[in-house]
Amino acid sequence: MFKKCIFWVFVVFSILGAHSLMAEQNIFIFLGAPGAGKGTLSSKLSEKAHLPHISTGDLLRAQTKKEGDLSVRLNEYLSKGELVPDEIILETLMNRVKDDDCKNGFILDGFPRTLTQAKKLDEHFPHKDHIIVVNVLLSPKVILERLKGRRICQNCSKGYHVAFNPPSVKNKCDDCGSKLISRTDDTIETIQKRLEIYKAQYTPIKRFYKEQYQWIDVRNDSLETCFTNMLEKIQAVDPEFVDMS
Ligand code: AMP
Repeated sequence: MFKKCIFWVFVVFSILGAHSLMAEQNIFIFLGAPGAGKGTLSSKLSEKAHLPHISTGDLLRAQTKKEGDLSVRLNEYLSKGELVPDEIILETLMNRVKDDDCKNGFILDGFPRTLTQAKKLDEHFPHKDHIIVVNVLLSPKVILERLKGRRICQNCSKGYHVAFNPPSVKNKCDDCGSKLISRTDDTIETIQKRLEIYKAQYTPIKRFYKEQYQWIDVRNDSLETCFTNMLEKIQAVDPEFVDMS
């Protein structure tokens, strides 16, 4: 009898413990067209809010540098500007969010990109009040200009722009000193294709999130103003959501 009691006490505490751990994970989801500035804004927020910045594009680009069939397949999707199949990206993301640095939450940049991905994320993280969706807006004309000047660090993937967000030393990453390069999918043809895919997928994703989740729109005409504006809106939605001290 005593052993049975101990067993049930253990079960109840395990469930409560697991639940409170999950409940503490606060998640930001950045939506927006390619080149709208999701990467820059989410990585600035990552520093401010002490949460890891998870770019699914970066995870995939890192994977393409490895040996094997998967890398070859991924390279084809990425260089054509096409979406990687949902099951591959979901597995990649779920493996990443299991890491210890995600225990208090994380910032998603580039995920979800389909309604299926949004629904799967919802199954894994059902606490809607622990999610804030940040929708980054920018006109297609400005997006094209921005993507043409975009550079990334070939080593750590940190993003720059030759005019709007240049490195301190020309062509060198501020963080690791490695060379800055243009992304292979930042060609005019591939950009057009990525924008078309984005347009086709965006409406159902927006409907899904706007109906049920905390939602913020930010217009990214100027990075600094947009970032300040975004922080104010996050505070207004939930002042306790993240510690930004
Ligand atoms: P990004 O760095 O976010 O612009 O993503 C670069 C490329 O990675 C995209 O054009 C897709 O090929 C792929 N990718 C990134 N995130 C996803 C995702 N959530 N679903 C499918 N493909 C993705």
